[in-house]
Amino acid sequence: MAILELEEAKIPMTLERETNPWEAQAARFDLAAKKLNLDQGIWKVLRYPAREIIVHIPIAMDDGTIEVFTGYRVQHSIARGPAKGGIRYSPDVSLDEVRALASWMTWKCAVVNIPFGGAKGGVICDPKKMSQGELERMTRRYTAELIEFIGPEKDVPAPDMGTNEQTMAWIMDTYSMHMRQTVTSVVTGKPVNIGGSRGRREATGRGIAVVCDQALKALGMMVEGCRVIVQGFGNVGSNAAKILFDKGYTVIGITEFDGALENKDGLDIGALLLHRQKAGTINGFSGGKAVDKDELITWPCEILIPAATENVITSKNAARLQCKILCEGANGPTTIVADDILEAKGVFVIPDILANAGGVTTSYFEWVQDRMGYFWTEAEVNQRLERIMVDSFEDVVSYAKSHNVNNRIAAYMLAIDRVAYTTKQRGIYA
Ligand code: NAD
Repeated sequence: MAILELEEAKIPMTLERETNPWEAQAARFDLAAKKLNLDQGIWKVLRYPAREIIVHIPIAMDDGTIEVFTGYRVQHSIARGPAKGGIRYSPDVSLDEVRALASWMTWKCAVVNIPFGGAKGGVICDPKKMSQGELERMTRRYTAELIEFIGPEKDVPAPDMGTNEQTMAWIMDTYSMHMRQTVTSVVTGKPVNIGGSRGRREATGRGIAVVCDQALKALGMMVEGCRVIVQGFGNVGSNAAKILFDKGYTVIGITEFDGALENKDGLDIGALLLHRQKAGTINGFSGGKAVDKDELITWPCEILIPAATENVITSKNAARLQCKILCEGANGPTTIVADDILEAKGVFVIPDILANAGGVTTSYFEWVQDRMGYFWTEAEVNQRLERIMVDSFEDVVSYAKSHNVNNRIAAYMLAIDRVAYTTKQRGIYA
């Protein structure tokens, strides 16, 4: 049932409903579609994923036993090009989560105007508790089960939480063995020596830094003295923190799942990265003071970057946030109830489907380079990425002004309008 229908039926907004990612996506979609006065038929077409695949994959574990893992691949739309989206390995993966993430990919690719649809995949597993051999066997079998559904012109996976360059290398190799030829463009986020793009690893963080710069310009603020707090020091959070630190921002706080650090004069992010590399955790870093991780994100700062996971800004803590800008590195960090609270507080939100789109934009560059067989320098990649992020920020912010809506709804409206236009132009094959 759609959120709007639930609202009309007066079903109360419980925390469970508030934090269901599919409902969160659908609520924003419905709101934006309503504002766009979207044709009812197109509304129905774009509201639901085009295809949902569930696989149960048997894996021989290192101890000789057989374990069966459940995996998903959801393709939300191929209207504007091949489906595109990451694969997540986590114990919390659910079909609703993968559906939501697949839809967000469609909107994200449309916001930055790259020729892809949206997809997402996931396997319910705990990669931290599995050996490399088990992970490799699981990845290869998952790929084999999806063999006729993925491909450079069909659906192009990439890394997400719990997966990395190595996972993509296994997928590329498995797909290539089945095709009897090397097909590098079947996945992005690969190691550079087997068709990966320079700059891909840092791309999401770099895109975040670009939109932070643009937000400061739009709000008449300065980099000097701009305090930043980052939640999550993984791929997105650590790269965003490092690039912002290098640009002269003052990163006063970093949180991780097992602790948090603050330094009002600014954390030395280069030194913190080295510490984490050696110690395996941010805890114990001499350049910062340990603080409560849930409290730190509510501290006064100019920019808060949630870059860990979904549903971290909810009705429970949104009113206590003291940032001026919320730049969403993670997908779906803010619930729909928190949206209203932040809007009332006047927080300038750079929504996830814009803020973290640097990753998929550079994945697009990787796919282009693989198909050309000609690779760009890192400077070329970064320059092209910056241009797309600056233009997309400008598109969203001016759309918000001209339609008198907040930045998130503007990003959705812009994206839905683009996908709806293509869908109408192609027509419905029925
Ligand atoms: P990652 O696994 O590399 O990093 C996530 C980090 O967050 C980890 O270090 C983890 O320990 C930490 N973390 C987990 N729970 C936390 C909590 N409650 N508080 C603080 N820290 C916590 O994953 P990633 O690739 O950096 O992705 C992070 C988010 O960004 C996800 O929502 C992902 O979907 C999104 N995203 C990633 C990319 C990309 O290119 N990697 C692109 C777009 C969006």
